[in-house]
Amino acid sequence: MSMADKIREAVARLNARQSYRPDHRIRRAPERVITPPVTSNEDQEDGSLRQSLAAIADRQFCLGVKYSEQQMRADRDGAHPDIIEFGRLLVKRMRRLDVPMFESTMWRTMDDQQSAYVLGHSNAKPGQSAHNYGCAVDVIHGVKGWNLSRQEWSIIGHVGKELAAQRGFKLTWGGDWQRLWDPAHWELTEWRSNKMVRA
Ligand SMILES: [Zn+2]
Repeated sequence: MSMADKIREAVARLNARQSYRPDHRIRRAPERVITPPVTSNEDQEDGSLRQSLAAIADRQFCLGVKYSEQQMRADRDGAHPDIIEFGRLLVKRMRRLDVPMFESTMWRTMDDQQSAYVLGHSNAKPGQSAHNYGCAVDVIHGVKGWNLSRQEWSIIGHVGKELAAQRGFKLTWGGDWQRLWDPAHWELTEWRSNKMVRA
């Protein structure tokens, strides 16, 4: 099974488990005792994927005030409609998995880009980033920020790519960049011909 299939399965399993939630009061038949199969490498991988999902899930935080405040952080005004819609839906899908995410940056002005470049927060000079034209969004974790493992980011990458495919958004994920790996970053693949100008 490919990594993408494994992630899809782990996400589906978590979704299925969550759909039982309202029925906690229903008593279930005692589970049959099943002899555990010999653990294969594949099982171990699936297990670690589930652990990764569990590690970034934080239901309590999703219900709190800080999570709600984070949702208002990014300046979306006049950004490209696909980016606005994508950011909103990615956060929503992760929320369904109890994973708190928010859009930290959408627009970045030329001045902010200059500061970010000088400080080493961005590798792009002013005018070279899709953020300067409302064509990119950074989506980060509500509690851990950028500080997720590669496998944890790959789950978010998978969910985002699936969403983009379903909606027909042509997006590039910074987590696929070999050289300047930037897993929080999503941009319009063709941002250079879709530049937005602020009113
Ligand atoms: Zn970015």
